[in-house]
Amino acid sequence: MDSTLPEVFTGSFTQQEPIPEDAIAAAVAVMRHGRLHRYNVVPGEAGEAAALEEEFAAAMGAKYCLAVASGGYALGCALRAVGVGPGDRVLTNGFTLAPVPGAIAALGAEPVFVEVTEDLVIDLADLERRIAASGAKVLMLSHMRGHICDMDRLMALCDAAGVTVIEDCAHTMGAAWRGVPSGRHGRVACYSTQTYKHMNSGEGGLLITDDAEVMARAVLSSGSYMLYGRHRAAPGPEAYEAAKWDTPNVSGRMDNLRAAILRPQLRRLAEQCAAWTARYRVVEAGLRDLPGLTLIARPEAESFVGSSFQFRLADWSAEAIGQVVARCAKRGVELKWFGAAEPVAFTSRYDSWRYAPAQHLPQTDRVLAGLMDMRLPLTFSLEDCALIARIIRAEVAAVYQRAGTAKGAAQGAAGGAAQAAG
Ligand SMILES: *Cc1c(COP(=O)(O)O)cnc(C)c1O
Repeated sequence: MDSTLPEVFTGSFTQQEPIPEDAIAAAVAVMRHGRLHRYNVVPGEAGEAAALEEEFAAAMGAKYCLAVASGGYALGCALRAVGVGPGDRVLTNGFTLAPVPGAIAALGAEPVFVEVTEDLVIDLADLERRIAASGAKVLMLSHMRGHICDMDRLMALCDAAGVTVIEDCAHTMGAAWRGVPSGRHGRVACYSTQTYKHMNSGEGGLLITDDAEVMARAVLSSGSYMLYGRHRAAPGPEAYEAAKWDTPNVSGRMDNLRAAILRPQLRRLAEQCAAWTARYRVVEAGLRDLPGLTLIARPEAESFVGSSFQFRLADWSAEAIGQVVARCAKRGVELKWFGAAEPVAFTSRYDSWRYAPAQHLPQTDRVLAGLMDMRLPLTFSLEDCALIARIIRAEVAAVYQRAGTAKGAAQGAAGGAAQAAG
């Protein structure tokens, strides 16, 4: 092995597929007629945004859908629609991405972070404690990196406590829990169509709900003026009667151009999701049974979309993890590390969101300290994924073996090995 040149991966972890030709044609058609604003329609025309909402609602099995400017906008819009205001506490995962606490804080509300488990989902025992301690009435549940918690238990817990659940499905569009689409458990669900998510319109967001009152407030809030009657996947005019007088307009509509790009992508969503998960399974198989490396358990009930991959170097020293990151980077494999002291690129931690009241989450700290993450864009072939796994495997093994002989790291390495074996 030592005599052969090390393999190098040359693909880009941030390169998504091109926009499909039929989506390009649909976008060009919108530009040709010029009616880009969603409410700029001619008699008899629904408009691309309204059509996308109907199709997305149908695909998810929801009554109503609203298309908006971004995933983060959808989260804020959902919070406003369920009545969150300044000073309210909103529970959310300690492990999530910046738009989630950002949406809460932007309303003048306070994020209350909940511990994450070693399997990267919200810790339900900690959630129960924090519901009681905080008195919070809303949970913004982030299915971070596509990991879905036991939704049956979570909903039973939240229903019993009178906690409204908003689902952040930025990484679970097309996923399901026990056959129920992700986003269909809580009162409202939000999706992102930003370039790195499961459909790509550059920026964009979708919100679904079955609740007419919530939907009416969301539509008005998103900037419908008094044109809400042009929505199709929305309740009738009676639902807006009270809300139209007291819902502030916070413009964040989706335009017809982006909706036109998304409709053909929605038709391929299931196929794309299967392609992501096939890539995920190849990486997972390539990293199995490696001392020091812990794979994330995926429950039987979870139909996930493997658009990104995580593993843990549990209880490794920061130095050893830094070496793995550097050695993999040299061979073209870009690993993100959630344990880094400073927020980098898209990766930040609850303690980097200093606008939120300071909290200490020891279990989350421990999990994130060893958490490695990478995207698996569909521009990677299955062979690419096998190569990526070989590179990670070799570099983790090399550092682990060396660290095992060093005094301080030896304990960490032993801990990691125990985890991997367990
Ligand atoms: C991407 C993302 C969002 C929404 O992000 P936008 O960039 O505003 O579309 C929300 N939550 C998570 C976990 C995300 O990764």
